Amino acid sequence: MRYSIFSLARNALGGHKGWTPTWRDAEPKQAYDILIIGGGGHGLATAYYLAKEHGLTNVAVLEKSWIGSGNVGRNTTIVRSNYMLPENIRFYEWSMKLWEGLEQDFNYNAMVSQRGVLNLYHSDGQRDAFARRGNAMRLSGVDAELLDREQVRRMLPFLNFDDARFPIQGGLLQRRGGTVRHDAVAWGYARGASDRGVDIVQNCEVKGFVVENGRVAGVETSRGKIHAKKIGIAVAGNSSRVAAMAGLRLPIESHVLQAFVSEGLKPLIPNVITFGAGHFYISQSDKGGLVFGGDLDGYKSYAQRGNLPVVQDVCEGGMAIMPMIGRLRLLRGWGGIMDMTMDGSPIIDKTPIEGLYLNAGWCYGGFKATPAAGWCFAHLIARDEPFPAASAFRLDRFARGAILDEKGQGAQPNLH
Ligand SMILES: Cc1cc2nc3c(=O)[nH]c(=O)nc-3n(C[C@H](O)[C@H](O)[C@H](O)COP(=O)(O)OP(=O)(O)OC[C@H]3O[C@@H](n4cnc5c(N)ncnc54)[C@H](O)[C@@H]3O)c2cc1C
Repeated sequence: MRYSIFSLARNALGGHKGWTPTWRDAEPKQAYDILIIGGGGHGLATAYYLAKEHGLTNVAVLEKSWIGSGNVGRNTTIVRSNYMLPENIRFYEWSMKLWEGLEQDFNYNAMVSQRGVLNLYHSDGQRDAFARRGNAMRLSGVDAELLDREQVRRMLPFLNFDDARFPIQGGLLQRRGGTVRHDAVAWGYARGASDRGVDIVQNCEVKGFVVENGRVAGVETSRGKIHAKKIGIAVAGNSSRVAAMAGLRLPIESHVLQAFVSEGLKPLIPNVITFGAGHFYISQSDKGGLVFGGDLDGYKSYAQRGNLPVVQDVCEGGMAIMPMIGRLRLLRGWGGIMDMTMDGSPIIDKTPIEGLYLNAGWCYGGFKATPAAGWCFAHLIARDEPFPAASAFRLDRFARGAILDEKGQGAQPNLH
C-alpha cells in the first residue's frame, strides 16, 4: 500500500478499515543469500538498501525480539552531523543527506524535523574548541554557526543566563540537525524492505554460527538452522556477545544509557539543546513531552535499564541550564545497551571469517547514523568493498594505530 493524502482520505471515509499491515511478519526459510542479524534501525536499513540499491532480495532480517525493541526505539531521537574529524564528518553528513530525502524515498512519515541542534559553551576554551569544530564542518561543506550569548538569549530566552553556576557564553548551532521519530524509522525501513521481498523474522534469536573451512555458512537460531552465503551482524549493544559466538573478540564494551520523558507541555523548546558544562541534552516531542538524557550509567552491563544516581545527575544538568524544569513531572525513563568502542567511532567492515560482516560500535550516536550505516553496510555486503564514506571505519584500525578519537579521550570507552 502506498501512503498519500488520497489513501488517508479514502481510509478516513471508510472508517479506517482498509489499512493493511505495514510489513510482512515472515516465517524463516531454510536458506537465504544474505542474513542480517538484528532488527534494529541499522539491520532494517541494511536490508532495505540491499533490496533497493543492489537488487538483492533473497534476504532475511533475524530479530530475537520484536523489531524496534532495541536502541532504535529507545533513543532520544537526535540527528546531526556536527563532527570534527574528516572521516566522521563525511559519514555523518552522508547520513544527514539521506535523512533529508528519507520520507519520500521510503514513503513513510518518520517525522524528520530539522529544528536545529545547539551546543552551549560556557568558557573561552570551550568556545575555541567549538569554533574549531564549526570551522572543520564548514570546510567540509556542512552548515555551522557560532552564536554569542546575546544571539542564544534571543533564540532561547528561558535559559539560565544571569544566575548560573556555569554561565552560558554562546553556542554552536547546526540548523540542519534536529530530531526524527525513532520507531517510525524502524517501521519505514521494515516496510520498504518487506515490500521488496525481504523476510523480516521476529522472535528468532541467533545462538551460534555455522562456519565451514573459514567461511560462514549459516546460523543456529531459536527457530532452527538457517543457511546463508553472507551474514551481517547489526546487533548494537549485543555486538560482543554475538561476535563471540563466531569466536571473535571485539574492541567494544557494552554500557547502559538512559533516556527520560516528562509530562506533556505546550510548545516550549524549539530545537535540540545540549549543556556544555555537564552531560545533558533535551528536545520537545510533538506530543509535548520533554525528551532528555545525559551520561552513561558508568558500568558495563547488558541490562536495558539504569539506576537512580544517573537520573539525579541528568536532572541536575537540566536544572543548571533551565531551572524551570524542576517543576515538571517525569513520566517515563528507560535504558538501552550501548556498544562503546575504544575510540568512540564505529566499525563497518568485514571480519576475519569470510562472508561474515560487522556493523557495530555506535556508542550513543548510532541513531543519526541509521541511513548511512544501512547504506554503507549494504554496499559492503553486496560488493565486498567499502562505500567511500565509511572506508575508515575498519576493525583493524586499533591494531594499526589509525584510531578515530573524535573527542580525544583515549582508549576509555565510557568517556566517548
Ligand atoms: C537512551 C538512548 C539514547 C540515545 N540517543 C541517541 C540520540 O539522541 N541520537 C543518536 O544518534 N543515537 C542515540 N542513541 C544511540 C542509538 O539509539 C544506537 O546507536 C542505534 O540505535 C544502534 O543501532 P540499531 O538501531 O541497529 O540498534 P538496536 O535497535 O538495538 O538493534 C539491534 C537489534 O539486535 C537484536 N539482537 C541482539 N542480539 C540478537 C541475536 N542474538 N539474534 C537476533 N537479534 C539480536 C536486538 O534485539 C535489537 O533489536 C541512544 C541510545 C539510547 C539507548
